Amino acid sequence: MPDGISAARYAERQSQARAAVAGAGATALLVGVGPELEWLTGYAAHGGERLNLLVVPARGDIAYLSPRLEAPAARVAPGLAEGRVRIETWEETDDPYLLVPALLSPSPLHLLVSDGLRAQFVLGLQAVLPGLGWGLASSVLGPMRRTKDAEEIALLRAAAHAADRAIEQIIEGPLVGRTEADVARSVREALLDAGHDTAEFSIVASGPNSASPHHEPGARVIAAGEPLLLDIGGRRAGYNSDITRTVWIEAEDGSGPDDAFRSIYELTAAGQAAAREAVRPGVSFEALDAAARDVISAGGHGQSFIHRLGHGIGLEVHEEPYLVAGNDATAVAGDTFSCEPGIYLEGRYGVRIEDAMVCTAEGGESLNEAPRGLRVVRGR
Ligand code: ZN
Ligand code: ZN
Repeated sequence: MPDGISAARYAERQSQARAAVAGAGATALLVGVGPELEWLTGYAAHGGERLNLLVVPARGDIAYLSPRLEAPAARVAPGLAEGRVRIETWEETDDPYLLVPALLSPSPLHLLVSDGLRAQFVLGLQAVLPGLGWGLASSVLGPMRRTKDAEEIALLRAAAHAADRAIEQIIEGPLVGRTEADVARSVREALLDAGHDTAEFSIVASGPNSASPHHEPGARVIAAGEPLLLDIGGRRAGYNSDITRTVWIEAEDGSGPDDAFRSIYELTAAGQAAAREAVRPGVSFEALDAAARDVISAGGHGQSFIHRLGHGIGLEVHEEPYLVAGNDATAVAGDTFSCEPGIYLEGRYGVRIEDAMVCTAEGGESLNEAPRGLRVVRGR
């Protein structure tokens, strides 16, 4: 099982980023705590109100500005160790913004800040660097982060398999008589037991709540004779899992779902299969959305598929590319994204089936392996 990205790979990413900064006519990237920092250095910094800033200039040395109390953690990050990046520290009583201009040489003209950099930090930087042009680092890092290398795909696969194990454990039950919130607590434990470092989300939506795509698990008690939708995920070695399965809990008399539920389940599964089969290099992300949507619309439920088909997945659960009408960007081998159509009948019930996928030269491959067919479970 891969444990993380190699130090050599971080060095390559930093070189690529510098070249891209130069190519974009910018002076430097200013990257705060978040996924861009993790992508460039492997450092999942503490964050908060203290300024942490990776300075990646088109020319000159890469530097990392860290509060002194966090510097020991920064120094052991795989992409900051080995003396490649100069670590500058600031004390609790320093004004860290005053240290930034000296990290930028030659004189900066146009700076690109990471998308999640706090407004407080951006305004602080602008005050010490007046009169410059500003943009978003995603303009250069976004395309690089979107398409994954072999190390990243291996990590995403390991995370997906951990989520497969967690969802199987929950589906085995018990479920009936427990609140959604209680099952959500078990989901978080199962995600950790299966090998995730953190549990990130645990949607447990029973009965009519399954018609609400982003339902917050609550006090509703799960009953026999109704569906249960589970959308769960966690992080392992920085990379995310995200899987949805919808099961039917058999009634007390052992009976399964009604015909209407069976039909929306089969339609969702057919739409999902059509989209998975359409994945190949060169296909547009909107065409993948349409592949699923056309099947569901032909079955009469297009109006009830109320969200896009999917989202990219990597260091963030939701990132580029988005599989949605209007996105005519095309897939390349190494793109990773969710494929998650759903049909939601408000007040009654809903179905969603979600897998994380990778586009390979031969076509689409699901990273998740949990069975997708309609399952009727005992729940006890
Ligand atoms: Zn999901
Ligand atoms: Zn998702």
